[in-house]
Amino acid sequence: MTKITNHLPTKELQALDAAHHMHPFTEDAALAKKGARIITRGKGVWLTDSEGQQIIDGMAGLWCVNIGYGRKDLAEVAAQQMEELCYYNTFFQTSHVPAIALAAKIAELAPGDLNHVFYAGSGSEANDTNIRLVRRYWDVKGKPEKTVIISRKNAYHGSTMGGGSLGGMTGIWAQGGLPIPDIVHIDQPYWWGEGGDMDEDDFGLARARELEKKIEEIGPDRVAAFIGEPIQGAGGVIVPPATYWPEIQRICDKYGILLIADEVITGFGRTGNWFGSQTFGIKPHIMTIAKGLSSGYAPIGGSIICDEVYETIATSGDDFNHGYTYSGHPVASAVALKNLEIMQDEKIVEHVRDVAHPYLMERWQKLADHPLVGEAKLVGLMGSIALTPDKAARARFASDAGTVGYRCRERCFANNLIMRHVGDRMIIAPSLTITPAEIDVLVDRATTSLDECYAGLKSDGLLKAA
Ligand SMILES: *Cc1c(COP(=O)(O)O)cnc(C)c1O
Repeated sequence: MTKITNHLPTKELQALDAAHHMHPFTEDAALAKKGARIITRGKGVWLTDSEGQQIIDGMAGLWCVNIGYGRKDLAEVAAQQMEELCYYNTFFQTSHVPAIALAAKIAELAPGDLNHVFYAGSGSEANDTNIRLVRRYWDVKGKPEKTVIISRKNAYHGSTMGGGSLGGMTGIWAQGGLPIPDIVHIDQPYWWGEGGDMDEDDFGLARARELEKKIEEIGPDRVAAFIGEPIQGAGGVIVPPATYWPEIQRICDKYGILLIADEVITGFGRTGNWFGSQTFGIKPHIMTIAKGLSSGYAPIGGSIICDEVYETIATSGDDFNHGYTYSGHPVASAVALKNLEIMQDEKIVEHVRDVAHPYLMERWQKLADHPLVGEAKLVGLMGSIALTPDKAARARFASDAGTVGYRCRERCFANNLIMRHVGDRMIIAPSLTITPAEIDVLVDRATTSLDECYAGLKSDGLLKAA
């Protein structure tokens, strides 16, 4: 069998990469000067790079390799499915076994009456679908003027025109004319960063009630839906105050607007339940899924839709004029199904809840004692720490946001730990299969990196509050 391995020296791979491969969310010229780190193999929570370094992946790739790298059983299912039926579409009154079996499995796992799956190739595509779905729903209901979707600042819902518009990241909006019309954003429930003197619970309520104010301002007859991640992921693993989601739910119920939970990260075990909505008591009409659905072994995403929304659209008397060539791709569906079966058979959600989370929690919380750390948050296996020059004041650094976070990430990289920074927050989301011994390695390397970062900031005079 031909294998794509490290067939060239690192320098040559980097040169080819720089010459021909344009990277997502990257300033390519700057990367070209430095050279990308080239990852060649993965096993469990471990990566190997082209220089043979062993790296512990604190991010499960991009929050997706929940089951860990290098599973032979998933590779075998993919190979079998490619031989059996590599591709067929689901557009013109046809279907196939992998798409059917996976939809039934997702409906079995999803809470309440979330019983219907519309497939996409990614989380961004699924959120584009959601824009179409909720507007179509209200149109069929005879309320075509209900088109506005309310989201949050600093949310991440993908980077297509629709997904990037639903998201609240100004860096994305600044390029390409986003957000598209009729998508509006309220403030995020980020107490540590924006709570000021307010009590955390009061702040959660206040931020949720911005939704009510916004609905009243726009007019309830214009609002189609609210979308939110149960925990903001790419925004910095921002865990909302306990009061936040119940109030959001109350407001959505009161005004009868659709609630979309973007579960692309929080779905499939990440928070210690199958879905983040279960962890926070949210009852969404639609869930966005991707990432952990296939543990990143194949690109697949989708929307899980409740009975009422589904039935309204399905019985409208017209086609739903939307779909992707690879909606329910057989190989991706077969891989995702096998991934979910393994999660069930090997009790991986239980492992998160009963073993990995409690063990990591004990060690993660102690990081809050580090002089550089303002707070340490962890829900399931989704964690963050806020870096600060002054804990008591919950102060930001005087340097540009992200300067310190980037320096910390560089120390992690040097210590063979992948931990990401979002501004000056450091975040983790390791594979759900991580063992206590591996958690020790992760936290030990994180501590070393924090120590080195702190020393560097001190000697460079960067420990100043804004
Ligand atoms: C990653 C992510 C997306 C986008 O998914 P892609 O597969 O990258 O398009 C959407 N929503 C959330 C919450 C995400 O974390």
